[in-house]
Formats: sequence, C-alpha cells, structure tokens
Amino acid sequence: MAPELARGEILAWLRCDDPKRLERLWEMADQERARRVGDCVHLRGLVEISNHCARLCTYCGISAAHAALKRYRLSRDEIMACARRAFAFGYGTIVLQAGEDPELDSQWVADLVGDIKGTTGLAVTLSLGERAPDELALWRARGADRYLLRFETSDRGLFARIHPPHNDQAVCDRIALLRTIKALGYETGSGIMVGIPGQTRASIARDLALFRELDLDMIGIGPYIAHPATRLGREGAPAAGADQAPATEQMACIVVALARLACPEANIPSTTALATINSAHGRAHGLTRGANVCMPNLTPPSYRCLYEIYPGKAGSQGTPEDSHRSMLETLAALGRPAGQGPGGRRRA
Ligand code: SAM
Repeated sequence: MAPELARGEILAWLRCDDPKRLERLWEMADQERARRVGDCVHLRGLVEISNHCARLCTYCGISAAHAALKRYRLSRDEIMACARRAFAFGYGTIVLQAGEDPELDSQWVADLVGDIKGTTGLAVTLSLGERAPDELALWRARGADRYLLRFETSDRGLFARIHPPHNDQAVCDRIALLRTIKALGYETGSGIMVGIPGQTRASIARDLALFRELDLDMIGIGPYIAHPATRLGREGAPAAGADQAPATEQMACIVVALARLACPEANIPSTTALATINSAHGRAHGLTRGANVCMPNLTPPSYRCLYEIYPGKAGSQGTPEDSHRSMLETLAALGRPAGQGPGGRRRA
C-alpha cells in the first residue's frame, strides 16, 4: 500500500483555494495515475435500466418523492441490445444502473447477468442500490464482476438526514454492506457526493480515509448538484459553517486527486456530474487530475432524459453514438488511449 497521506496534509489541500498551488496537486495526482494504472482510459458502457425508485433520498431527482416523473424500466431485449452495442464499441464492461427498483427481481437480474456474460463476455458491473446479501450472492454466482454503491458521506448523521430509512427499517449501514459485497468477491466500488449542504471538509477527509480502509477497487466522486424537484434542492439545508465543502468543480477535483494519492491502484471515473458542472472541460479535468475511467452513456435516447438525477445531466440529449464519439474525442485531445479488455483493478 502507498504511504498514508497525513490528515493535516489532506485537510490543507481540501482548504486550498490557490490555483497555482493546486497545479501542484493536479500534477502529483496525474503522475501517480500514470505510474500506478497507466495512460489507458477504461470505457464502461453505462445503461440506466430503470428509473423506478422506492427510496426518498432528499438529493436525488429519481427518488419516489418526485411524483411527476415519468417512470420506465428497460426490457431484457433492450438491455441485451445495449450490451451488444457496448461490445461493438470495443468496451470491456457494461454497467447496469437503476434506482432502487423492487420490480428488478433477483432471479430476473441473475438471468440477465448470465445472458450478458454468455453472449458478449463483457465484465458486468451492477449498481442497483441497497440489495439483500442473498441477492448479491446470487448475482455474483451468475457472473457479476463488480458492484457500485456510494456511501455518499461517512458522516452518519448527515447520511441519515439525506437518506431517510425505508419501510420502517433502520438507516442502511452502507459501509457494512460494502464489506459484505467485498467478501462476496465483487470488485467493490463506492464514493461520495462533494458539497452536500452540511458536509464539512473534515468529514471529506474521513471519507478519504474510509476509501483506503475499505480498500476500494473503484471510487466515484462527483459534485452534489441541486435538483429543484427534490427536498434538498427546494428547501436547502443549513451549511456546515466555514468548513462547509463547496459543491464546485474545483472541490470535486481536489477530492479526485486526493483519492488517487490515497488509493493509487483504484479505478477512478471522471464522472458525469463533473462533465455536467463544466460541460467544456469537466471530463478532461477529471482525467488529468487522477481519474482513469469514463462511463459513456448507452441508455436508449428516449429514456435518457428520464434518468434525471440532477438537472442538465451531461449527455441526456444524445445517442449512444454521440456519447461514444465525444468520449473518443476527449481521449484523443488528451493523447490517452482507450483501454482494452475488462480493465479490472490492478494490484502492485
Ligand atoms: N440507486 C442506486 C444507488 O443509490 O446507489 C444507483 C443509482 S443513484 C441515482 C447513483 C448516484 O447518483 C448516487 O450514488 C448519487 O451519488 C448520485 N446522485 C444522485 N443525486 C445526485 C445529485 N443531486 N447530485 C449529484 N449526484 C447525485
């Protein structure tokens, strides 16, 4: 493992607002990225398979509370067509993401995973929310390779406020669930939103320590983007005083860069949220400040705009071909090759 960054050093970077000094952080993160995971950018085809959600997360535009949102669920055939397209584009991985949709029955998902693996051989990443250990075990047994579940913030009080419990259950302990996911043999991904009202820089320093403690294989970091149809977007919440983390591109990039230094071998995407708050340069900034993965959107165009977790989501108007082309243009401009094969976690 790489030597741990001192907490004081992490906090100093999280509090740094000097563009000249930040150049040094970007450079350190980029060099560490090149040394530890190489120049290739792994492309994971993202398919948003359902926007149904039983949860009431106060930040998320597809939460059950958004009653006016038209809901969809892709059929097995539609998802298989996306998988074939991912294969044709030369991607090594397909990511199936959804709201927490109880109709995505565990056996149906297991059969889908088996069909995708059998037909395309792609690595399969699932991101279907908080699911029961026996379902997670079944999907793993049918060949699912990776599972993504962001813990969003390690501040348990803040998490409970933005992620109200469901069906009279206690607030899910996502950190314990991530340990279960890891024990089942998945490559395990998690991450946070940056700049949630009430989130301090000190709590982000703890998030970074937790990334390392959980030995995450994938770390997704994006700025929080207020959605006017959500409770948090509409009503806001008290900021955490002077130590409140801003929901800016710069702050999200600082966290990406520190995640690379803390967890040098992890796969770190340059997220859609970064590309949303800076449509011209967000994706490239992520890739030159520690990230080594992108997730071009393969969701069929008629459904994309309905997976509106925040407003103005990058790519929500285009086609899979548009997403693919724009991703290759970004990589060409940076002189970075697209990765071949599944692009799993490297270990030193
Ligand atoms: N239901 C699954 C889950 O909760 O893990 C996967 C889908 S969820 C929409 C995917 C991610 O979107 C969340 O982990 C969260 O970090 C991000 N997200 C949701 N609302 C957001 C917002 N307003 N701003 C930024 N990211 C947001």
